[in-house]
Amino acid sequence: MSERELLMIPGPIEFDPAVLRVQSKPTLGHTSPEFVEIFGRTLDRLREVFLSPVGQPFVVAGSGTLAMEMAICNLVEPGDKVLVIDHGYFGARMAAIAQRYTADVVTLTAAVGNVVHAEQVEDLLDRERVKVMTITHVDTSTGVRAEVEKLAALARPHGTLTVVDGVCATGGEEFRQDDWQVDICLTASQKAIGVPPGLALLSVSPRALDAWRARRTPVPNFYCDFGQWLPIMQAYQARKPAYFGTPPVNLIYALDVSVEQMLAQGMEARFAWHRTVGHAFQAAARAIGLREVPVWPEIAAGMMSAWYYPEGLKTGFLPEVKKRGVVLAAGLHPKIRDQYFRIGHMGAITRGDVLATISAIEGALGELGYPFEVGAGVAAVAQALAAGAMAPA
Ligand SMILES: *Cc1c(COP(=O)(O)O)cnc(C)c1O
Repeated sequence: MSERELLMIPGPIEFDPAVLRVQSKPTLGHTSPEFVEIFGRTLDRLREVFLSPVGQPFVVAGSGTLAMEMAICNLVEPGDKVLVIDHGYFGARMAAIAQRYTADVVTLTAAVGNVVHAEQVEDLLDRERVKVMTITHVDTSTGVRAEVEKLAALARPHGTLTVVDGVCATGGEEFRQDDWQVDICLTASQKAIGVPPGLALLSVSPRALDAWRARRTPVPNFYCDFGQWLPIMQAYQARKPAYFGTPPVNLIYALDVSVEQMLAQGMEARFAWHRTVGHAFQAAARAIGLREVPVWPEIAAGMMSAWYYPEGLKTGFLPEVKKRGVVLAAGLHPKIRDQYFRIGHMGAITRGDVLATISAIEGALGELGYPFEVGAGVAAVAQALAAGAMAPA
């Protein structure tokens, strides 16, 4: 593999060189004063990333799926009703986790590429006593972005807790945990957070912690129990050492650097930049004549794109793109898996990355005989980038 290949899949992503470099520093003892300071300030800064000064951040070794499991197993007791708003593969995974913890799971499933409509959600919340509602902010199998603010506002008057799976969103898509009254937002390091795989991250509202404290039954998972991790996070935030399970020290160096970079850019600027990048990819799809999986532009994510292959052209497309130095991802949604491909555009993506990706896609399409105006996609991207928000300095 060429070291100059561009990894444009929906996670893991291209990481900033400074984030990668810091991982090669000597591993500090996890209770050393130097590491306590690094971990403590990283937790403080994560509150700004989630836009949740009142939230309690958790950083635990594991992948995004562990973060999903932590959210569910701490809030849900046997028989509790959990409403899963399902926009694809990761919605279905959330339902499977809730079932494993013997919740009474109700799922509202959107048609592929569409969203579950707010009226359906409201109707269900009116009819049933739902303890926890889960939303995938961006379902990585379809590139559909959920209307999190609107849905969370419906849950609130019913006393329903809202859990947002932000694995493919948090750090890039607009998200305001406190303003939107989301109870748990969870994510992982390797997507929009911009750190190599291995960290599960959560931000938990005081209301969700109260619900956990009010449980009648113990959390049926030893490693995931907030009771193990809450004292540890609180200790590091107070700049005191503590131990439950060894933290992945070098990955936390990387998180520290990535979060510092994000905040230096500013969350508002990041949201605007990723909106621009999303629009640029949409403009390219239109110019080249490819159909997007999200059924209308307003619900297409800024962090990734999902495009159907042109008729009869799927074989050989991804390898042709790779020959041009760009790695894209195959389909994931079981209903359309072989009919589309995915482009990740999260993290420290640059204008150059966007242009190179579209150029490689055009090259592959041309090679495979797809009729279109060569350069139309690149021109559309250049125009969308010129009209949109500034890239990070
Ligand atoms: C990637 C992803 C996950 C799972 O994360 P892992 O780190 O692969 O376990 C969950 N939800 C969404 C929306 C994702 O994109």
